[in-house]
Amino acid sequence: MKPQDLGTTAPNTWCPGCGNFAILNAIKPVLAELDEEGTLPLENVVLVGGIGCHGKIVDYVGANSFYTIHGRTIPVATGIKLANPDLNVICFAGDGDAYAEGLDHLIFAAKRNVDITAIIHDNRIYGLTTGQYTPTSPSWFLGRSTPEGLEVPPINPLEIVFASGGSFIARGYSHGIELLKDLFREAILHRGFSFVDVLQVCATYFNLYKHYNDRVYNLEDHDPENRAQAEEKIREWDYNSAYDSDVSIPLGIFYREERPTFGENFAKYSSKTTDLDGAIKKTLEDYI
Ligand code: SF4
Repeated sequence: MKPQDLGTTAPNTWCPGCGNFAILNAIKPVLAELDEEGTLPLENVVLVGGIGCHGKIVDYVGANSFYTIHGRTIPVATGIKLANPDLNVICFAGDGDAYAEGLDHLIFAAKRNVDITAIIHDNRIYGLTTGQYTPTSPSWFLGRSTPEGLEVPPINPLEIVFASGGSFIARGYSHGIELLKDLFREAILHRGFSFVDVLQVCATYFNLYKHYNDRVYNLEDHDPENRAQAEEKIREWDYNSAYDSDVSIPLGIFYREERPTFGENFAKYSSKTTDLDGAIKKTLEDYI
């Protein structure tokens, strides 16, 4: 299979220069390669899209897909995975999607280590509705709903996922397609919850290409299995750098660990558990 075999006839409505193209052009070769080498047959892949400009990506990739409502890619993906553990489920969500309305789902997917992949198109703006601030917009952001400035600092989504127990945490950039391909492949093959925040530039309403080009660098000599190192690198950039600031934005895999997935633990939550009193008693004996 070639990446072009994953094309569709849906007309593309993204603006010229939109960072969504890079994500689309990175995921197709990765899925084609995984299918070709027999690692992950395409028939076992399900793409889940949210609401926002990013959501159209599921129209543009010729694979099984599901459109959800705003903020709900992760619970839908979780249900798909639990219903059929043989499927590999990849969520595409926006920052307004996953970090605002859907933030609780993101936290719990990380905490539970649900074996799905979340790729976040983080353009730091609501592009589809023509330019309102989102949870990752910087405090100096001037937009349609904040014409005199936002004055509220952004969240660092990597820090939230890390604190919530995320077992694979990475950041890419829409002007670096080779790194995106590497990150997507690693994330898809990770057993557990994999999270990739992509700095996806909205060319029309919040063009940060120069801002990022002057500041991004790829992580090197970084051990993603070292929790202290990961925490330090995750905190290196707080998503709030202004144009005159002297900051660096690391890209790559920040953290990775192996631990049991939600699906593996799920049987323990089953209503078929007959000796519930015994299980609770044992838990109390073990931990108190
Ligand atoms: Fe891309 Fe922004 Fe256009 Fe939406 S509005 S398609 S995010 S450039």
